[in-house]
Amino acid sequence: MTISHWQRTTRLGTLHADVVVIGAGICGISAALHLQRCGLTVRAVERGVIGGVGSGASARNAGFLMRGCADNYADAAKQYGRAKAAALWRLTERNLEGLRREGIDSLSVTQRVPSVLLALGEDELARLRESLTLMHEDGFAADWWDASTNAGDSTWKQLASKHPPLGALVNPHDGATNGVHVLRMLASKLSCPVHEQQEVVAIEEHGTGVRVHVTDGEIIARHVLVCTNAYVPLLLPGFAGVVDPKRGQMLAIRPGVFQLGASYYANYGSEYFRQTWDGTVVVGGCRTYHAEREVGYEDRVTPWVQRDLEKFANRVLGEFDASHDITARWSGVMGFTQHHLPIITRCWGENAAATGNDKSEKVWFCGGFTGHGMSMAYEVSRLAVAEMLDGVESSFDLPS
Ligand SMILES: Cc1cc2nc3c(=O)[nH]c(=O)nc-3n(C[C@H](O)[C@H](O)[C@H](O)COP(=O)(O)OP(=O)(O)OC[C@H]3O[C@@H](n4cnc5c(N)ncnc54)[C@H](O)[C@@H]3O)c2cc1C
Repeated sequence: MTISHWQRTTRLGTLHADVVVIGAGICGISAALHLQRCGLTVRAVERGVIGGVGSGASARNAGFLMRGCADNYADAAKQYGRAKAAALWRLTERNLEGLRREGIDSLSVTQRVPSVLLALGEDELARLRESLTLMHEDGFAADWWDASTNAGDSTWKQLASKHPPLGALVNPHDGATNGVHVLRMLASKLSCPVHEQQEVVAIEEHGTGVRVHVTDGEIIARHVLVCTNAYVPLLLPGFAGVVDPKRGQMLAIRPGVFQLGASYYANYGSEYFRQTWDGTVVVGGCRTYHAEREVGYEDRVTPWVQRDLEKFANRVLGEFDASHDITARWSGVMGFTQHHLPIITRCWGENAAATGNDKSEKVWFCGGFTGHGMSMAYEVSRLAVAEMLDGVESSFDLPS
């Protein structure tokens, strides 16, 4: 696919825009699209090469378009309050509806498949059962599978006979896709340029606006929306400890080895697996068993996580020949927040470039998707744009 608006220019010089979006992952590209539809001139800048192979987590994820957040509904209701949990679940439903309106279902890589939250232990069983009850009370469609369920899914049958899950909460209307294809599709709707291989190195006040210094020039704008997710502390150091970089890893098992009809999420989301459109099974997670080592910005696979992923796949899917059947292994860096909710905020202090301690009206951040950005960022970036331009409060503030 040729994407003419991905621009690699050796010397940008001084450019102008209403808004500069920093980072061209799912969040930045969605934000640029929302801004463009508000009639603004936009320039997106990306330090990597998105048009070719992808750069950040958006091009390296498992592609679950799953309702909800990192926590199950019962835990989210306990942590954030029932109303906020419900609002979050609705937001992710709107995220998927929005992506479907943009046309993701026309991509060959997109599947309409349920997400199945497996209870492999008694404690998780209780949390998922409570989630089901609360979700029904709050008007959400959700189903329950147990070992005797005839789910029409050979993996479920295999799981049920081999290592019977104690039960599973099913989101019947979810989907799954491939992040690279979604990015390309969304970007094809942009009339604004996405400047590739342009790293933003500094943001400073400039009259009533902002000057954004990039690798080969500068862009002067009224607003900046920072959509760099895990990488935000590298540009705006005040975000250190607010958005933490954590490494996620995956492996792929060649088509024909296993057959799945759903996307699976297990051990409170610590592990997840699904079958892609071409029959490949992707398995990810196991970070939590090595939590202290799987942090930072180094994008690499590690033997300890990959070994655990193989063991997990063996346990839940069945035997396979790792040396023959595993076709790919990869990693990506995710941005985690302490409260596991995304953040939309004005940047502050030195982050907002010499605005003292006041939060800037000009420089905003949207991100911290805690491993769920495909399921949230299209909609959360829309809320960020509404808050930045029109002051419509989103309720995704910094953790208190
Ligand atoms: C292995 C793995 C599996 C995952 N699975 C799922 C899943 O199944 N479902 C789901 O919903 N989510 C999943 N996620 C999480 C999801 O991929 C992320 O939450 C989402 O992609 C974040 O999007 P983003 O646009 O905010 O950040 P990113 O995609 O990381 O994009 C940020 C961009 O900013 C650029 N950048 C950084 N600094 C600068 C700078 N100074 N100047 C210019 N550009 C800069 C980076 O190069 C990058 O391209 C997974 C993540 C991983 C790693």
